[in-house]
Amino acid sequence: MRERLTNWAGNITFGARRLHRPESVAELRAVLAGADRLRVLGSGHSFNRLADTDGDLVSLAGLPRTVEIAPDRRSVRIDGGIRYGELAARLAAEGLALHNMASLPHISVAGAVATATHGSGVRHGNLATAVSGLEILRADGSTAVLDRDHPDLAGAVVGLGALGVVTALTLDVVPAFELRQYVYENLPAAALDEHLDEILSAGYSVSLFTRWTGPDIDQVWLKRDAPLTGDLFGARPADGPRHPVPGMPTENCTGQGGVPGPWHERLPHFRMEFTPSSGEELQSEWHVPRTAGRAAIAAVAGLRERVAAVLQVCEIRTIAADHLWLSPNHRQDSLALHFTWIADTDAVLPVVADLEKALAPHGARPHWGKIFTTAPSELRGAYPRFGDFAALARRFDPQGTFRNAWLESLLG
Ligand SMILES: Cc1cc2nc3c(=O)[nH]c(=O)nc-3n(C[C@H](O)[C@H](O)[C@H](O)COP(=O)(O)OP(=O)(O)OC[C@H]3O[C@@H](n4cnc5c(N)ncnc54)[C@H](O)[C@@H]3O)c2cc1C
Repeated sequence: MRERLTNWAGNITFGARRLHRPESVAELRAVLAGADRLRVLGSGHSFNRLADTDGDLVSLAGLPRTVEIAPDRRSVRIDGGIRYGELAARLAAEGLALHNMASLPHISVAGAVATATHGSGVRHGNLATAVSGLEILRADGSTAVLDRDHPDLAGAVVGLGALGVVTALTLDVVPAFELRQYVYENLPAAALDEHLDEILSAGYSVSLFTRWTGPDIDQVWLKRDAPLTGDLFGARPADGPRHPVPGMPTENCTGQGGVPGPWHERLPHFRMEFTPSSGEELQSEWHVPRTAGRAAIAAVAGLRERVAAVLQVCEIRTIAADHLWLSPNHRQDSLALHFTWIADTDAVLPVVADLEKALAPHGARPHWGKIFTTAPSELRGAYPRFGDFAALARRFDPQGTFRNAWLESLLG
């Protein structure tokens, strides 16, 4: 019997005939040459059928690790299978850093970038904005090398796996830095309403967590370099370590209490050696322009009871605008409303649909790697460069080798 192959959350069983784990680019080429349809699986942390295929699935986790720091120490060239946790440790050892990280270091860089995965911070773009070069193996066996000045780069970075196999990426890096992480509890709703921008700008990275069981914000996670004392807009410092999901072990989380630590041990919420988040969950997320943030929060509050009934925790973050064609942050400073749901698709989907209706008037764009039900036509309309992306995908992959049912309906 064929091995049952699922995503990390277990809500998607992939329909692939085979999963290949090549150990060299030459082996990868051979797999590609023998496949009529193929998708790349990163670390499998997406919650929808984006990475699925009824053809061949290939994981690049077995490729030789590449971490080549440029002589000017401003960029690093990496292979298409490396995970953030591994890369971050290597960069930190060299005195270098990434500008930001997601809540977890477990995800592959290529897979995260392909869906515009992000951290938080009003001045920081999503993780895909660090990409200054891509090497893409196309279905015909040729390799497209897109450098910083290449006109296709801005379209190819958030590529949803549609253009080919990303065998290598170049990321911009910065000198290593330290951060302190503070957790505050019970931010009054009135403070959020009056001081939203100040609160979201109070650190390098700020996250607000709520279960929507009451009007207040349960926890504020604030990562910054300078020390802080006292309350934060009426929220009190936590009296010990916290996990954003009630009842989960706090040892899974990165260091708190304002103790300074290296960037890669403070920017993610969760530690590489432990299960991130709750481990049994589904996720959705919508990005709205930051200017619509207050109205979008009010729209969710209008569905408070429906949401709370199927929610583990909701996180509110910010992301700076960028120029990447399919980035949900394309040309708009954004506020992201993330929902960690209970692991029950049937119970969650109707609430997702209601949230989409409530958030649509505020210009919401869903996270590409999470659960949403937005019609493809609406998604196409949400991205001014969507037509250019569809043309780029056709040009890179005219036979549709890298297409799956999910992409077929999206690209039209
Ligand atoms: C517990 C948890 C926490 C999360 N936290 C965050 C968060 O803080 N912020 C956030 O924005 N998102 C978050 N996510 C979502 C996650 O970051 C995205 O779903 C991301 O895409 C996962 O990366 P992956 O390597 O698992 O990609 P996969 O899910 O494996 O693949 C995603 C896409 O990338 C493509 N792909 C992967 N590798 C390649 C390659 N080498 N070449 C071409 N295409 C490729 C796949 O075909 C697919 O289309 C979280 C998810 C989980 C499970």
